[in-house]
Amino acid sequence: MEEIKKKDIRALTREQLREFFVSNGDKAFRGNQVYEWLWQKAAYSFDVMTNLSKETREMLEANFVINHIKVDQMQRSSDGTIKNAVRLHDDLIVESVLIPTKSRTTACVSSQVGCSLDCRFCATSRLKRMRNLNPDEIYDQVVAIDNESRLYFERPLSNIVFMGMGEPLMNYNNVLKAIDKITSPDGLGMSPKRITVSTSGVPKLIRKMADDEVKFKLAVSLHSAVDEIRTSIMPFNAKFTLSDLRESLVYWYEKTRSRITYEYVVWDGINDTQKDVDALVEFCRFAPSKVNLIEYNPIDDGEFKQASNAAIDRYVNTLEKNNIVVTVRRSRGKDIDAACGQLANKS
Ligand code: SAH
Repeated sequence: MEEIKKKDIRALTREQLREFFVSNGDKAFRGNQVYEWLWQKAAYSFDVMTNLSKETREMLEANFVINHIKVDQMQRSSDGTIKNAVRLHDDLIVESVLIPTKSRTTACVSSQVGCSLDCRFCATSRLKRMRNLNPDEIYDQVVAIDNESRLYFERPLSNIVFMGMGEPLMNYNNVLKAIDKITSPDGLGMSPKRITVSTSGVPKLIRKMADDEVKFKLAVSLHSAVDEIRTSIMPFNAKFTLSDLRESLVYWYEKTRSRITYEYVVWDGINDTQKDVDALVEFCRFAPSKVNLIEYNPIDDGEFKQASNAAIDRYVNTLEKNNIVVTVRRSRGKDIDAACGQLANKS
C-alpha cells in the first residue's frame, strides 16, 4: 500500500486549521484548541491534546505529523551555560545555547543548518549551509530553552539572541515568522525588545527590516571598519562593502530610531592599532551606537589570537571618549564549545 505523505500540521495558520475542522464536519473552534496545543503548549504529539475526543486525535494523527525538534544531547558548562544539540525531523543537527546570568536567561538560537558566509574566525562557516530552518524549528529551540530555564533556574527565559548557527538575514522570512510567533500572545508573548537579531551585515536586508518596521533589536558583526581588513577576515565584505553597509544602517536608524549594537573582536596583529579604533569611531558616528567587544574563542590552530589587554583598553578608552557605549563581554560556555563562533556540531 502506498503510504500517504502526511502534512506538517504546524505549517497551517490558525485560520487554515479552523477551516480544516469545518470541512471535516466539525466546529471551527476545534481549530483554536489544536492551535493552542501546538503553539502555547508546544505539544509533541496528538495524544496529549486531552480536550479533544479520541476520534478527533486519531483523525489528526492519520492526516498530520508534528515535526518537532528533539534535544538529542544537552551539555552543561561549569559556568552554568547549557548547550543543546537539536535533532531536526530530517536528522540534521543544529545547536542552541542557554546563557544564565544573575538577572537574566538568554537563549542563543540557530537560524540555518550550517552557514553560507565565510567568516574565517567562525567554526560554523566550515559547515556547508545545508538548509534554512523553518519558523517552527526556530520557535522550538526557544521553547526548549524556556523549559530548561524554568527547570534549572526557576525562572522563564528573558532574552533571545539570533547568534547561533547561520546568518538570520539569509533566512529572512522564516526568522521573522518565528519572531512573530515568539512575540504573539498566541505563542510565548515575549516583548520584541528582548530579542536581538545579529547579522554579518547584508545591506539590502537591513533596509528591508527597516521597511518592515521590525521591533526587535539589531546587532551587526563588524569586527573591522576598514574594508581591506574586513574583507580579509570576512570575505563576503568584498560584495557587501562597508559603505553599502553603513548606508543601510543610516537608513535603518532613520526609520527605526533604534540604537545599533556592533559586535567586535580585537585580534592581535589584525585590528589592534589606533587607526583601527579611529575607523570604528568614524563608522558609528551617524547614530547612537554600542560596541560589544567580544572575547575571541579560538577555533583554529592559532591563526587568530585575542589581542592584548592594552589593545582592548585602547578601544575602550577611545570609544568612551567619543561617547560610544562600550562593553567588554566575557565568553560563556567555552569548555563545552558553546561560545560565540564555536558551534560546529562537535557534540
Ligand atoms: N551570522 C550572524 C550570527 C551568528 S555569529 C552574525 O554574523 O552576526 C554570532 C557572533 O559571534 C557574531 O558577532 C560573530 O562575528 C561572532 N563570532 C564568530 N566566531 C567567533 C569566535 N571564534 N569568537 C568570538 N566571536 C565569534
